[in-house]
Amino acid sequence: MTTSARIWREKPHRYRLEGVRCKKCGRTWVPARQVCPCGSRGLSAMVLPEEGRILTWTVVHTGHPEFSDSTPYALVVVEFGKGARLLMQLADFRREDLKIGRKVKVEFRKVQAAGESGVLCYGYKAVACSE
Ligand SMILES: [Zn+2]
Repeated sequence: MTTSARIWREKPHRYRLEGVRCKKCGRTWVPARQVCPCGSRGLSAMVLPEEGRILTWTVVHTGHPEFSDSTPYALVVVEFGKGARLLMQLADFRREDLKIGRKVKVEFRKVQAAGESGVLCYGYKAVACSE
């Protein structure tokens, strides 16, 4: 699969922070899914809030070659409440920002230049909120 096909498929959650909310149990999911683990098919589209909290994190010292210019960088799982979680890079990485429960906001930033053509890929990154 080409990078552009993947980006097209992931566009709703990658570029609009769009997921779904279960009408039966209230949990939220991103990317969207057809059936909730509670068994319900009653899912409606929703947009995630722009702020969440760090659920867990790691620091990458030896990254994929496409990100080698950025090492070390931090990856965080951000929880947006009621189940919706996204893995994203922490922008402007500072070690002291890596705390479970730390409030972060989501900003649209350049993620990488893809392939030999150098197509710029944009997406969301977490930015630590001031405490
Ligand atoms: Zn459900």
